[in-house]
Amino acid sequence: MIRKIEARTLLAHVSQPDDWFGLRYNMNLYRGCQHQCIYCDSRSACYGIENFADVLIKGNAIDLLRDELPRKRAKGLIGTGSMNDPYGPVERQYGLTRQALALIAEFGFPVHILTKSDLVLRDLDLLQAIQARTRAVVSFTITTPDDALARKLEPGAPPPSARLAALETLARHGIETGVLLMPILPFLEDDPAAIQTIVAQAAARGARHVVPGFGMTLRDRQRDYFYTRLDQHFPGLRARYEAAFGERYSCRSPNAPALQALFDDLCRTHGLRARVAPYQPAVQPTQLQLF
Ligand code: SF4
Repeated sequence: MIRKIEARTLLAHVSQPDDWFGLRYNMNLYRGCQHQCIYCDSRSACYGIENFADVLIKGNAIDLLRDELPRKRAKGLIGTGSMNDPYGPVERQYGLTRQALALIAEFGFPVHILTKSDLVLRDLDLLQAIQARTRAVVSFTITTPDDALARKLEPGAPPPSARLAALETLARHGIETGVLLMPILPFLEDDPAAIQTIVAQAAARGARHVVPGFGMTLRDRQRDYFYTRLDQHFPGLRARYEAAFGERYSCRSPNAPALQALFDDLCRTHGLRARVAPYQPAVQPTQLQLF
């Protein structure tokens, strides 16, 4: 079901200095996400989204953004894509992300988009306009190089091969791009060959950063949903998770130390960063005093 809601505010300050994605502000234009990744943390009870399959459209989001942007004095990266994908199928119809990017370009803010969709290519013109004034960063989440496995884990999202192709196109057009290599699901995706493939392909297609996370989080109803899907697609794997992690929230891959060492090597080889640097406004040249 898709329905409209009214939001009270849109731009949230990122309270901790964000040294992973470089964000100063964050915004969500939708609630719920049609990509329906089986591991999605947004299903957790703390976020209060009753039915994650429903998509709620913030009908006043663009008015709020137009009001809030001129009141932000610091020009930090505006992130979108942490609680839902800004380029889910619903965006084709409602276009909130495109309208938001137009305002971000107009008011001279930089942006960092996190997505699993090649629909972002539709907005290349706006990303280039933002890049010309400040900075436009697009990071594609890729958790496996295997399109067939991704269909089970991220059933509503375009396949990783389409995401990599989109990354290449954006990079070729001057947009700063990278990969979010997270979550890496224990016993399913924590394979050195898969990590090597993703990082090498990202580098070959023009990525400038790959941000890793060798594990996942599990809690309350999100864990229930994930285990139900494991039973459906990977019979027997739930028992392995329960034995390894019990009720734990942070579920690090047992291979994490070896994967991290491999990843560090790959980053050195390919010249990739493992973080997205915060936005630094260009320093205005000081005027010479003439006497
Ligand atoms: S794309 Fe992101 S927000 Fe959407 S379901 Fe997947 S993990 Fe959740």
